[in-house]
Amino acid sequence: MDKKQAQSYIDSHKAELWEVSDKVWYAAELAFNEKKSVRAEVEYLKSQGFEVEEGIGGVETAFSGRFGHGKPVIGFLGEFDALGGLSPVPDEFQLLPRDQQATGHGCGHNLLGVSSIGAAMIMKNYLEQTGKEGTVIYFGCPGEEGGSGKAFMAREGVFDELDCAITWHPGGANAVMTGGSMANIQVKYIFKGVSSHAAGAPEMGRSALDGLELMNMGVQFLREHMGTNCRVHYSIVDTGGLSPNVVQSHAAAIYLIRSNNNKNAAELKRRVDLIADGAALMTETTVEKDFMKACTNYRGNNVLNKLMQANLEALPLPGVDEKDMDFVKKINASCPKQEYEVRQDILDVIPEDEQAAFIKKCQENDIFDFIMPLTPYKDGAGSTDVGDVSAVCPTTQCNVATWASKTPGHSWQIIAQGVSDYARDRMVYCSKVMAGVAIDLFENPAIIDEAKKEHKKNYPDGYQCPIPKGVKPRPLG
Ligand SMILES: [Zn+2]
Ligand SMILES: [Zn+2]
Repeated sequence: MDKKQAQSYIDSHKAELWEVSDKVWYAAELAFNEKKSVRAEVEYLKSQGFEVEEGIGGVETAFSGRFGHGKPVIGFLGEFDALGGLSPVPDEFQLLPRDQQATGHGCGHNLLGVSSIGAAMIMKNYLEQTGKEGTVIYFGCPGEEGGSGKAFMAREGVFDELDCAITWHPGGANAVMTGGSMANIQVKYIFKGVSSHAAGAPEMGRSALDGLELMNMGVQFLREHMGTNCRVHYSIVDTGGLSPNVVQSHAAAIYLIRSNNNKNAAELKRRVDLIADGAALMTETTVEKDFMKACTNYRGNNVLNKLMQANLEALPLPGVDEKDMDFVKKINASCPKQEYEVRQDILDVIPEDEQAAFIKKCQENDIFDFIMPLTPYKDGAGSTDVGDVSAVCPTTQCNVATWASKTPGHSWQIIAQGVSDYARDRMVYCSKVMAGVAIDLFENPAIIDEAKKEHKKNYPDGYQCPIPKGVKPRPLG
């Protein structure tokens, strides 16, 4: 069975995959509340003959669908949580009837999970047809947005049996994600004081809000003395109440503390903790540090990244018909940023005399119809819980352009395009690409050894989960 033949298995299941993706798109559930989305994916996996296990790693909405036995064990990662707080989709951009709701798939995760299911299906059929030994597992990973679901799963050893993990993210370009991401730790600092009449008996009060404000101020000063690879952001989630004539007895903020690896993030957290303690001391209040979640920085595996690039380049991207192209152009025209900025690390791998033409080609592409060149590893600024999987086993991921080139991240434009024909076609395209990587691994197990050798070099001490035992995943709010 050649690779193309194996990949084409999924063509007869396109309509079903689209249906599952639409169900997840309609459900649009937030982190760790993805009950309807899980049902849609789980029922479909069962109908396709996968052995499903729910609630894995102690996370209620985490699950796996497995087929085969023995080695190698290849995992495909899927996400399905949505976002809140996005602007509504204007009526003229609604491709499917949908009530305007507070949540939406503004990061394309309705496509993400389903494409990975498609890849697992191709591999199940491949194993059945070839009689080869090995196991494929689809991992339903909840709470990526602000929840670090995969880190909780990794803490419980869910990914330990994997030889390699493969995933993707819907995006604006077609490229292997060679860039890294930051480790982060999220902590809620809860100040408690003593309330009193703010005018009548101010000396009796101990203001929790004062404590919180002084903590925030202390962190502003810390910024001058932390490394360039550090970031700290916060939101005040309890201001202590509405009455200025009461000394506030409670106040709280959620802090997101980031750095380039777990060790540096933990060190930065230690310093933020000290500032919180100092602020409590100054105000005679107390502060409780509620560890919410953390995730590891992402580091893709070069050996697997090369395979991913080759598989992207080997498979022609689905075209976009005229009607859809009008929609793509309309989406682009609605976007705040009209100039497409080509990443410097991409330009760096293009010969100097070809760069101007390449930039022009990118500017003129309404939806990317070519594959970006492979770039070397580079530290990144965001965070993803795929980082924890990448620390457990060799991992690769790519972006496939499922949306118009000027689409901003986390936007209503992504919700709108999540049910477009071109997003659906490219979701299935990516199933084939990811399965292509897995087929390469099944046919050349020596590549797995090579990938593992590189992994061992990057993680000589193995994986240490940054989330302490006992901390449970929870929805925001
Ligand atoms: Zn996102
Ligand atoms: Zn996302």
